[in-house]
Amino acid sequence: MGEFDLIARYFQRDAPNTVLGIGDDAALVLPRPGQQLAVAADTMVEGRHFFAGTDPYSLGWKVLAVNLSDMAAMGAVPRWFTLCLTLPQADASWLAEFSRGLFSLARRFDIDLIGGDTTRGPLAFSVQILGEVAPDAALRRSGAQVGDDVWLSGTTGYAALMVGQRSGWLVLAQEDATRCAPYLDRPEPRIALGLALRGLATAAIDVSDGLVADLGHIAQQSGLSACIHLDQLALPTLQSPPSSDIVLAAALTGGDDYELCFTASPERRDAIAALALALPLPVQRIGSMQLGAGVAVLDANQQRISLDHTGFNHFA
Ligand code: ADP
Ligand code: MG
Repeated sequence: MGEFDLIARYFQRDAPNTVLGIGDDAALVLPRPGQQLAVAADTMVEGRHFFAGTDPYSLGWKVLAVNLSDMAAMGAVPRWFTLCLTLPQADASWLAEFSRGLFSLARRFDIDLIGGDTTRGPLAFSVQILGEVAPDAALRRSGAQVGDDVWLSGTTGYAALMVGQRSGWLVLAQEDATRCAPYLDRPEPRIALGLALRGLATAAIDVSDGLVADLGHIAQQSGLSACIHLDQLALPTLQSPPSSDIVLAAALTGGDDYELCFTASPERRDAIAALALALPLPVQRIGSMQLGAGVAVLDANQQRISLDHTGFNHFA
């Protein structure tokens, strides 16, 4: 199978939102009048971002999902994407499954694959995504205000627990591993939430590196501090949970969750609760923004807890 056969067979699909798609030297797209383009890219390298042997359907899904998550975090409508693929060999059944996972999400969000590049080498792929957002409507990291609430969609920690299990340093019961795996392999980009937060949230970020680290980016770029109240944070629920330190650390510092963390004025509490019901998607109010710098995690007695002592290390 030559490179052009491979592209035609596995990646050339209808592109109804595109002026000129795959097959020329560059694609042509026409943003809707007056819209800004939101552009993001994310790369996944075998052994670094995913375990060797991960099923190809999940890989196709995830490389698009993590990019869609960036659009969600900006409040942008995703429209087009490109795909750069580096493959050790052209394995037909691998490609068919990768393509199926990729396009299942692409169709769901009505976005077109408009081009890319295909080369031979160690397994890696990269998506660049383009979306649209009206001027001044994007959800930036820098907009949080003193006194804003901090909100989080869903529950963080499941994906990191699965990383622990696959790395071999954590042993989960079979039913718990089955529960955690989809959070790591097939994250759900929170597009509908991101779009609905335009005009409601003051700042937003998607949680890819861990809740504390990513909320830290909002704090830093807004020139403020953030606190998380542990008694308000929902943790992963498992049948046979590992130590509470490990579960807590996974939720706070684990990463790979792709939930949205956002800030909003306390006046917006009712609107955000109504939105959560309408989507439907649980959101939790986990803390607030204050003067100062950094992220403090407070226990039920308002005492600061140290994350160094939770004993969790993503790279262990
Ligand atoms: P060029 O030599 O101009 O870079 P290529 O031969 O690399 O063109 O690619 C031919 C066409 O196929 C281009 O339109 C390119 O965007 C598209 N393409 C290449 N690889 C992929 C891929 N993995 N997914 C989608 N489109 C691809
Ligand atoms: Mg090329």
